[in-house]
Amino acid sequence: MVMIIRGCDIQQDLSETVDVCVIGSGAGGAVAAKELAEAGLSVIVLEAGDAHQPATFSRHAPEMLHRLFWDGGMRTTRDGSILISQGRGVGGSTVHNFCYAVRTPEPILDKWGIHDLSPELDRVEATLGVKQIDEAQVNHLNRVIRRGCEAMGWRGVVQRHNRGPCADCSVGCFLGCRESKPGIGKQSMDVTYIPRALEAGACLYSNCHAELIRVENGRAIGVVAQLGKDSDRSSSNHRLTVDCQAVVLAAGAINSPQLWLKSRLPDPGKQVGKNLHLHPAVFVGGIFDDVIDAHQGITQSYYVNHFLELERDPDSGYILMPAFGSPVLVAASMPAFGHEHRELMENYRHIAALLVLLHDRSSGRVVVNRHGHPVIRYRLSRGDRALLVEGMVNAARLLFAAGAREIILPYTRRIPIKSESDFDVIRQRGIVSNDMLIASSHPQGTLRMGSHPRHSVVDTYGEAHAVKGLFVTDASLFPSSIGIPPTLTIAALADRIARRLAVNWPL
Ligand SMILES: Cc1cc2nc3c(=O)[nH]c(=O)nc-3n(C[C@H](O)[C@H](O)[C@H](O)COP(=O)(O)OP(=O)(O)OC[C@H]3O[C@@H](n4cnc5c(N)ncnc54)[C@H](O)[C@@H]3O)c2cc1C
Repeated sequence: MVMIIRGCDIQQDLSETVDVCVIGSGAGGAVAAKELAEAGLSVIVLEAGDAHQPATFSRHAPEMLHRLFWDGGMRTTRDGSILISQGRGVGGSTVHNFCYAVRTPEPILDKWGIHDLSPELDRVEATLGVKQIDEAQVNHLNRVIRRGCEAMGWRGVVQRHNRGPCADCSVGCFLGCRESKPGIGKQSMDVTYIPRALEAGACLYSNCHAELIRVENGRAIGVVAQLGKDSDRSSSNHRLTVDCQAVVLAAGAINSPQLWLKSRLPDPGKQVGKNLHLHPAVFVGGIFDDVIDAHQGITQSYYVNHFLELERDPDSGYILMPAFGSPVLVAASMPAFGHEHRELMENYRHIAALLVLLHDRSSGRVVVNRHGHPVIRYRLSRGDRALLVEGMVNAARLLFAAGAREIILPYTRRIPIKSESDFDVIRQRGIVSNDMLIASSHPQGTLRMGSHPRHSVVDTYGEAHAVKGLFVTDASLFPSSIGIPPTLTIAALADRIARRLAVNWPL
């Protein structure tokens, strides 16, 4: 029987006994659940957020941010300088992501000591229906960016994606795809891996927040979760206690270390929560005379990878990605106030924008406060600030080359850039924390894998060095910043770890 149980409907304490308890149902958790259930293990998945019904997704940003994201989309670093978007609900961050499906670059695998990830990547691509984006699907925004890139003589690429035909395709994708179902619209985890995990016998509790991982004699033996938190109702006092022989932690790169620290699990190398990379991103817009209508069609299909040379330097560089949003989100990202802001917004249909997405060397740390809530510390290094500034200048050059008449910068005040001779303003002003919008969609690295317990938290097959039977399968695993959209890599690593776990069963 296919089972999703809504924790918010349960009015008593419960207990379950299974082989494996998976915490989180996003890119890493969904894949692990399917692979383990199909291998014949009994699996329970605990997901803190709702089991979404895509047909109920609206285009009302405040409502959807509340429904789909942690902290209503307002999660930030401790100093408030970087906004971190993380999905909450069945499918995790894959429900609102933009479906770029990029294979792990070889130099990154070499750096991480992974010999070959091709079989896992092939399997994941097949299950997610990854395919090359057709030329006809490249929208006007992406064509304008490509025009600018080619005029500069830079390198760019039309990507592959995990998306079927979608009549509703637009910037609304960020607020969840209303068309999403198997083979149609966004092929996120909730319509691909999760149904297959359930068909194979896994049981999923939504609205079920894991509060504690239980460990006895150095082994993971279960999980305690709070039932009943959903986006509309207050929490109930009921609990779910799971007894199991293995725990798979896949709550994302902020919540996974949070749960580890909150549960007071061993951390002999003092590595838990460290090595946080964020791929910080700033936007640069261009106002064009022509209508761009960037809100129509697939927001991101092309990107400029000219400044990411991983063979030469696997730890640094940046991508220039097309970016756009609904009027509410664009308004929130625009500089200026009052009349000046309104004047900018009147150009909504004439704006093409880029994100400078940094492959960050800087690293931060997740700790917990006395209430057990995550506190996210992160500071951009001087070198990374310089690279972001270079990225902003190059984004502006590209937009001018594509025909922009004015550049919009992400500072609080409007600083109009009308020609390349104004670029010194960007260099002088630089990256000013809390005076510009810096966003992160790719937190990673906080329970890093590696062979040595002094420098890593889990081994190269995801098992904790210090706790037998505790595995990690989400973005926390990454030993360093990956530099590209991470979903395929997370999913492929989860596939690798889960299959190995199943082969070695019983532990
Ligand atoms: C706006 C946006 C666009 C993106 N676009 C792309 C893209 O085009 N291509 C790409 O490759 N990547 C993209 N990403 C990134 C990608 O979606 C994430 O990196 C990826 O989903 C992370 O996988 P994960 O398993 O680590 O975490 P998630 O997918 O976030 O899953 C973690 C899950 O765990 C749950 N959880 C957390 N704590 C608990 C708890 N205590 N108990 C139970 N459940 C818990 C969460 O609710 C969540 O469902 C995008 C991200 C964003 C925000």
